Amino acid sequence: MKISRIEHLGIAVQSIADVLPYYTDVLGLEFYKEEVVEDQKVKTAFLKVGEVKIELLEPTSPDSTIQKFLDNGGRGVHHVAFKVEDGVANALVQCEGNGIRLIDKAPRCGADSLKIAFLHPKSTCGILTELCEE
Ligand code: ZN
Repeated sequence: MKISRIEHLGIAVQSIADVLPYYTDVLGLEFYKEEVVEDQKVKTAFLKVGEVKIELLEPTSPDSTIQKFLDNGGRGVHHVAFKVEDGVANALVQCEGNGIRLIDKAPRCGADSLKIAFLHPKSTCGILTELCEE
């Protein structure tokens, strides 16, 4: 697989409204989009850091995986997303061939018009890893 760069960092927060002023007013980052991803029970907000993005993730339901992450003391970086140039589907085949446990067996639609798939942190050195393509 060919990874070109970090696409975004996913950061779990209890409230986007509470943390957004830090990112926009203190760090001076450009907030450009908010989007609810219904099937993941999450509201997202995107900020630009050059070519890389910050994806703030707010749970929209008590049974959201983001709420569980926060309840387990996991405030902060939730996942790292890599941009794959030669297709997420292809990358999943390669990962599986290397014994990596997949959360998503096939690419699906994520926020910000990306095709995405997650790799399980148990086989990625503890970091929940997202692969994406535009
Ligand atoms: Zn993400």
